[in-house]
Amino acid sequence: MISKFGKTLKNQNIKDYTTYKLSGKIKTVIYPENKEDLINLIKYLRKNKIKHMIIGNGSNLIFKGNYDGVIIKLNKFDKLIINDTLVTVGAGYNLIKLAIKTANIGLSGLEFASGIPGTIGGGIYMNAGAYNSSMSDVVLEIEALDDNLNLITLTNKELNFSYRDSILKTKNYICLNAKLKLKKQNKEEILNLIKTRKQKRLISQPLEFPSAGSVFRNPKGLYAGKIIEDLGLKGTKIGDACVSEKHANFIINNGNASGEDVEKLINLIKEKVKEKYNIELISEQEIIE
Ligand SMILES: Cc1cc2nc3c(=O)[nH]c(=O)nc-3n(C[C@H](O)[C@H](O)[C@H](O)COP(=O)(O)OP(=O)(O)OC[C@H]3O[C@@H](n4cnc5c(N)ncnc54)[C@H](O)[C@@H]3O)c2cc1C
Repeated sequence: MISKFGKTLKNQNIKDYTTYKLSGKIKTVIYPENKEDLINLIKYLRKNKIKHMIIGNGSNLIFKGNYDGVIIKLNKFDKLIINDTLVTVGAGYNLIKLAIKTANIGLSGLEFASGIPGTIGGGIYMNAGAYNSSMSDVVLEIEALDDNLNLITLTNKELNFSYRDSILKTKNYICLNAKLKLKKQNKEEILNLIKTRKQKRLISQPLEFPSAGSVFRNPKGLYAGKIIEDLGLKGTKIGDACVSEKHANFIINNGNASGEDVEKLINLIKEKVKEKYNIELISEQEIIE
C-alpha cells in the first residue's frame, strides 16, 4: 500500500494537476510528507516496477493521454526561511508566491518569476526565466536526491544551468530545497516593476485560457511567435487545441483538448516552419506518455 508514504488520491483528472487542463486521468497522485517518505516511496515504486514521476505545478507539461502510474507531488516540501538576503525554500513552494513575498519585504531578484506559475523544483529543473533573468541568477545551491537516492548538495556551478536547462534534466536528480541569494532594494520599486510586467503580460499573452506558456524556444536572434504569426498560423486548431490569436507562441486549450491534440498541433507548426524557413523549432514543453 503506497498510502503509507503520504496522502494518496486515485483516478484523478489531469486538468486538476496541470495548467493546460488537458483531458485524461492519472491513476495515482501521492504527496509524501518528508524526505524519508519520498525515499521509501521511490524505493517501493522502483522495486515494484511502477511507473512514476515528480511534478511541480504541471505548468510545463503535456500529458499525452491517461497516466497509468504514480505522480509524486512535493507540496509538503514548502518550508520557507528568510534570513536577511538568504532565502531557503522547499522545492514545492510556488514561484509566484515567493516572488511576491520577497518583493513585499524589499528583496529583489525574483521579479522575473512573478508571472511564472511553477514551483521552485520545476523552476530550477527548467532554469525558468524571463526578461533576461533566470533561476540561475539567484540560486546559490540546492539539496537534492541523486539517482541512488543519496542526499547531495549541488552548487550553482554544479547545476550546469543554461537556457531553460539544468543538470536536473539529464541526471534524474530530485530537488528537495534551494538556497537563493537576493538583494535588498526599495520595496515600491520592486512592486512597481512586477506590476508593469504583469500588465504587459495581460495585454500580450492569452492568460485567460489554459496553456503551458511559450511552446517553442526562440531560435537564435529570432522570435518563435513572430515566425508562427508570419506563417498565418494564428487560430489554427486541432480538436480544442488552438494557436492563440493573441500570441502565436502559445497554444491554448479551448475546453476539451487532449495531449494528442496539442502534440499534433506542435508537430504541424514545426513542419510548416521547417518547410518555409528551414528552421527546426524546439518545444520547451515536455510530453508525458
Ligand atoms: C501562463 C504561463 C506563463 C509561463 N511563463 C514562463 C516564463 O516566462 N518563463 C519560463 O521559463 N517558463 C514559463 N512558463 C512555463 C513553466 O511555468 C515553467 O517552465 C516552470 O518552471 C515549470 O515549473 P513546474 O513546477 O510547473 O514544473 P512541472 O511542469 O510540473 O514539471 C516540469 C519538469 O520539472 C520536473 N520537476 C518538477 N519538480 C521537480 C523537482 N523537485 N526535482 C526535479 N525535477 C522536478 C518535472 O519532473 C518535469 O520534468 C509559463 C507557463 C504558463 C502556464
